Amino acid sequence: MSGQAPDPTVSQPAGSPPQYTIVLAPGHGGAPSTQKEDKWDPRTRSYLGRYLYGDIYKNIHEHRLVLPLSMELQRLLTLTESAAGWQEFEKILSQFSTQQKFPRIVLKSHLTRTDSYDDHNFSKQDDRNHAAWRLYDYPDARTGRMQPGRLSRINALKPWLVVAIHTTPAGRSQPGGMGVVLAPGYQTFNTLRLISLGQKSIQSFYRMPWADKFLITDRGWSQYEGARSDAWVYFHGWKTRGGRSLRRWPEMNRGLRQNMLTWRYADPPGWEKLALRNEAGPYSTVHKNFRATGPFWDRERGQAEAWRREGGPLGYGGDNYYASDQLLRYVQYGARLQSSQLRRKGALNGIIKPFVSAYTLPTYVNAINAYLEIAHTNRSKDRQLLEKKYYQQTARSLAVGIYALFQQISLKPGYGPWRPRAAALDFKKYADLPGGNYFEQVVK
Ligand SMILES: [Zn+2]
Repeated sequence: MSGQAPDPTVSQPAGSPPQYTIVLAPGHGGAPSTQKEDKWDPRTRSYLGRYLYGDIYKNIHEHRLVLPLSMELQRLLTLTESAAGWQEFEKILSQFSTQQKFPRIVLKSHLTRTDSYDDHNFSKQDDRNHAAWRLYDYPDARTGRMQPGRLSRINALKPWLVVAIHTTPAGRSQPGGMGVVLAPGYQTFNTLRLISLGQKSIQSFYRMPWADKFLITDRGWSQYEGARSDAWVYFHGWKTRGGRSLRRWPEMNRGLRQNMLTWRYADPPGWEKLALRNEAGPYSTVHKNFRATGPFWDRERGQAEAWRREGGPLGYGGDNYYASDQLLRYVQYGARLQSSQLRRKGALNGIIKPFVSAYTLPTYVNAINAYLEIAHTNRSKDRQLLEKKYYQQTARSLAVGIYALFQQISLKPGYGPWRPRAAALDFKKYADLPGGNYFEQVVK
């Protein structure tokens, strides 16, 4: 990816089609970790976490499985950039739609990666096994100079939409399916904080539509304990233990993530030293002394984040949920539309309930984020959509789905239980915010 993106829509000459920047982010890519190798924490000047290698089942590796689909999807979106390509793209749209004509838009797309560490022959200890695929900013192994991680490189492109493509392991009793990854917003995490402070009842957690979807990160925990620990990570950068404990878990430093990437909302240099003092304010690691002040917390309490992550067309999860669910529906609908084999009863698994936690990507980009766990790696019925026979079809379904997020289309009737919803996503309200275009503000 280059650091420079064209300014979408606003700078287009009159009469040319609107252009939107999209980032496609196939998961992972770096080598399996032997030590802490990602999540550089400027506070402690150390890596806090292992490199997230992704899922493995037998000899099937997630980072390999998601790549052909992502690259084919980019090829299809690129068709919208030229008049000749557009004719081909329109043919794909008309395969799905009852319409004859489609308004032209340009979907200018970028891939976060086109290869993995094992396409290279770095020696085992070489930092380059991880460097290009790290999520957070990191110091160059030779010079010590800070380098942009994946989050910073995505934000530098100022995308309107980020589509992340991953696979996940299924437990023994899990038949499979596809799901979306969501991070709640300030409203939800602040409710969790107020419960811990005794200012709200625990019922206010159980009444949330999120309650039964929170990831249980630690064995023996309830969903409430998982959510409460996520709230700690969100506010303080530390997990808390389960049970009655309401103190930080000293070994579980997760970092003040808003300051571990390059974007408008990082605190000014010197925050590392202030953070070490642990005084009342935005760096306090005591719940009751925490104050939501500074650029990141202003963003978090703002309108755009509420739209993106809370409430919205599906009742919770905001526009991120709408976009993600819509793309999975397109994969389901498009699989059946394009293949009579996949139309057969039981040929595919359905859409499962969302994965919910204080996830990084949905939180730390100024873009609508469709984060897809598109298959369970160890379920062949899921995996087939990414493998040789069907990945090109799946890419077509996603390309049509992405177009339909920007420009409503009418679909042919039929093709199974997961029909996409009719409405396009309201990107315009973000572009028209009084403070300026949300998507383009992400970097200074
Ligand atoms: Zn993954």
